[in-house]
Amino acid sequence: MRAGIVARAEAAYLGLAMGDALGATVEFMTPREIRGKFGIHKDICGGGWLYLKRGQVTDDTTMSLALGEAILADGAVTALGAAQAFDAWMRTKPIDIGNTVRRNLIAFRKTGVPEAPPSEHDAGNGAAMRVLPVALATLGRDEAAVRAAVRAQAHVTHHNPQSDAAAEFLALAVQDAIRGAALRDLYRGRIRPLVVAQPQFAYRSKRRENPSGWIVETMQAVLQSLLDTGSFEECLIDVVNRGGDADTTGAIAGMLAGALYGPDGLPFRWLKALDRDVMVACENQARRLVGLPA
Ligand code: MG
Ligand code: MG
Repeated sequence: MRAGIVARAEAAYLGLAMGDALGATVEFMTPREIRGKFGIHKDICGGGWLYLKRGQVTDDTTMSLALGEAILADGAVTALGAAQAFDAWMRTKPIDIGNTVRRNLIAFRKTGVPEAPPSEHDAGNGAAMRVLPVALATLGRDEAAVRAAVRAQAHVTHHNPQSDAAAEFLALAVQDAIRGAALRDLYRGRIRPLVVAQPQFAYRSKRRENPSGWIVETMQAVLQSLLDTGSFEECLIDVVNRGGDADTTGAIAGMLAGALYGPDGLPFRWLKALDRDVMVACENQARRLVGLPA
């Protein structure tokens, strides 16, 4: 059982990185532009507006790794630890950074207060995309503690109820999947309740193409792809070919589908293509995070 949990935690982290690397190639493209250039985009090949090397990842993965190291150093998820880790990450001049993340980290530098003020506008997907290390570190904790830890890291940059709802959903759904829940269990136990609590997340009215960085559109695309496919590979190809914020929909779908389908679901060609250092860092950190005392 324990070995299975560690393997699924690693698969979730590798899934995040694979989705990020796969999606970044087509970030900000429309589905039509993607079809014109690739037919179906299905290989980790770099390029895109960031001119990535093959296998290179973006902020979605590197912010997650930065947060995870802070959690391991502190032995817990703390707002200050997360804020300091994100600030140090920003000083490395990352290849991409969200506007809300940048603005609120600059505010943290000035004030030293790790929690951003509540804002109805800060409903981007930047806090949800990096929630995985919190999910792994709090595996086995009660739901209220998981939700509190998720919000502590999220509010450093995104203090917003829609962002919170998505990030809490993701952490709890990933934990369920790591413990062996099937897709129908996630639907009954997490996806339906999310839409009941926050009807904006309803995702069935039309196919969500070209999802923006707004967390609601991001989650609509991710949930459609997750529920309408039957494997890790199909899910990720489906979601990134919708274009838009494709590295982030890829990263979020990747963490969920990685946990759900486990290590055997990860395509070997994507594993081989992923940057070596990133692959090792993700596997390593996943193991250490689930090893933290609950
Ligand atoms: Mg990115
Ligand atoms: Mg993005």
